[in-house]
Amino acid sequence: MFGRGAPKKSDDTKYYEILGVSKNASQDDLKKAYKKAAIKNHPDKGGDVDKFKELAQAYEVLSDPHKRQLYDQYGEDALKEGMGAAGHDHPFADFFNSFGGAGVGGFPFGGVGGHGQRRGKDVVHTLKVSLEELYCGTSKKLSLSRNVLCSKCKGKGSKSGASTKCSGCQGSGKKFTTRQIGPGMLQRMEHPCDNCNGTGESITAKDRCLSCKGKKVVTEKKVLEVHVEKGMQNGHKIKFPGQADEAPDTITGDIVIVLQQKDHSKFKTKGADDLFVEHTLSLTEALCGFEFIVTHLDGRQLLIKSQPGEVIKPDQYKAIDDEGMPMYQRPFMRGKLYIHFTVDFPKSLAPEQCKALEAVLPPRAAAAQMTDMKLDECEETTLHDVNIEEEMRRKQAQAPKEAYDDDDDDDMPGGAQGVQCAQQ
Ligand SMILES: [Zn+2]
Ligand SMILES: [Zn+2]
Repeated sequence: MFGRGAPKKSDDTKYYEILGVSKNASQDDLKKAYKKAAIKNHPDKGGDVDKFKELAQAYEVLSDPHKRQLYDQYGEDALKEGMGAAGHDHPFADFFNSFGGAGVGGFPFGGVGGHGQRRGKDVVHTLKVSLEELYCGTSKKLSLSRNVLCSKCKGKGSKSGASTKCSGCQGSGKKFTTRQIGPGMLQRMEHPCDNCNGTGESITAKDRCLSCKGKKVVTEKKVLEVHVEKGMQNGHKIKFPGQADEAPDTITGDIVIVLQQKDHSKFKTKGADDLFVEHTLSLTEALCGFEFIVTHLDGRQLLIKSQPGEVIKPDQYKAIDDEGMPMYQRPFMRGKLYIHFTVDFPKSLAPEQCKALEAVLPPRAAAAQMTDMKLDECEETTLHDVNIEEEMRRKQAQAPKEAYDDDDDDDMPGGAQGVQCAQQ
C-alpha cells in the first residue's frame, strides 16, 4: 500500500516526448499526433522499426485512461512490472480489475464485501452447441468438479475446531515487500502470506482434519443440467448463482456457462435471428427456373422454387420470412432465411451452342457499331485470367500509404490491412 507521504508524481514524460505532445494533451491530440508520427515512421516507408514500436507503445499507454493515470503517477516502471498486489482503493486496483478481477499473478483482487466476507470468483465454462440445438432448444449435462466446504470439520480445517495464528504473518494474512521504483521512490506492496495463503492461521499437524487434510475444502463432482432455450445465441450466458468453488468466509461465486455455437456445414447466422444458406444454380436453372429442397435445422423439408419467367442473377439474395432462427423468449417469432445464389456458368460453349443461344437471346449490343473502318484504327489486345483479390492485395502491400485513411479515426496504422475479401 502506498503511504500518503510516498512520492506522488512521476517526472517521467518520455511517452509524451515520443509522441511530441504536452502532458495535458487530449485523447484527440494524442490520436492525431500518433497517426502523423506512425505514418511518417512506418517501416514499410523506410521508417525506423524501433522508433515505430516506441510510438506504438507510447500510444498504447497514453490512449488508455487507466494506464495513462498510472504512468503519470508512477512512471514507466509501474506499467512494466506493475504486477504486485495493491489495496482495493488504490488506483492499481482498478487497473488490475480491468484484467477480469482475478488479479494478476494469482492474487485475489475480488471485491471485499461490506461485512468482511470476500466474494469468490465466478467460474466460466464454455459449452459448445450446434445450430440445430439453438434452433430447437435442448438440455445438456455438464460434469464439473468444484471445491465445497469440508463437511467433516465444517470448513475449519482442524479436528478440534481450534486454529492458531500463522507465524509467517502473525495472523494478518498479509506480507509486505518494498522495492525501488525510481530515485528515492520506494513502493511498498502488500500480498497474501504464502505460508497460510492469506488466511492468517495454521493448524498443527496432529489437529489437522483427516478428511480435507486441513485445507477446509474438498473436491466434489457436480453435474449441471444446462437448459439451452430456443433462440439463445452464440455467447449467451447461463448463470448458476452460488455454484462456484466454496471457500471459508467467502460468498460463493457463480458458475457461468457461455454458449459457443459450432459452425454449421450449411447454415450461417448473422445478426440476431437471421439464417443464411448458400445455393448454386446452373445457368439453365438461373435463366429458366429452378426447384430444390432445403432440409431445415429441425428436419423439415422446405421446397424452394422460382416464379415462372423469373431470372436469378449471380450473387443475388432471396429471403423466406419466418424461417430464420427463433427469437429468445419469443420462440414463435422467427427471423428470415436468406438464400444467396451463385450461378454456375458453363466454362465454354461450342459454336453450335452459341448459334442456338443467339437465336433466342436478345441481339448483341455492340455488334452494330463495329464497322471495318473502326476496326482498322484499333490495336489488338489479349485478355488473360486474373485473381483480382490477390492482385489488389499485392498492390496494397506494395503501397502501404494508401491503407491510411485520415477520415477514419479507428483505423490504426499497425500495418497495411489489405483489401477485405468480399466473401460471405
Ligand atoms: Zn475437514
Ligand atoms: Zn501467514
